[in-house]
Amino acid sequence: MTPTRWPAELPSTPPTKTRSWPHPPMATAIGRGLLGRCPACGKAHLFNGFLRVVPACDNCGAPLGSARADDAPPYITILITGHVIVPLLYMVDRMDEPPLWLMSVIFLPLTVLLALGLLRPVKGGTVGLMLTLNMLKTETDPA
Ligand SMILES: [Zn+2]
Repeated sequence: MTPTRWPAELPSTPPTKTRSWPHPPMATAIGRGLLGRCPACGKAHLFNGFLRVVPACDNCGAPLGSARADDAPPYITILITGHVIVPLLYMVDRMDEPPLWLMSVIFLPLTVLLALGLLRPVKGGTVGLMLTLNMLKTETDPA
């Protein structure tokens, strides 16, 4: 029985993925995603609903719908919202100590609106980041 030479059986270089869509720099892709445009080409819409990403870009064919952002956009949105709302809440409370009902009337809607307003751009930016990190699946990728 011949011993298996495990490292020698591995390919010397990983198979290169062929991508037919543009590869912008990371900041460009994230910026395009933040604006709701295709992170690859910047010429087509990224969303076809409030948070639903188009299956593929109409202009360049990037498989944007295969980006599984999962919980990253809500996590980042909560992080940003918390870092804006909590200091404001603390400052207003320390300045004048307004009644609780007034604080609730001001900060509950502000929190909801800020989170809803940030969620879509943050998801777009996340898809842009995923594009530059080669995290989009192609037809040739294994399932
Ligand atoms: Zn595109």
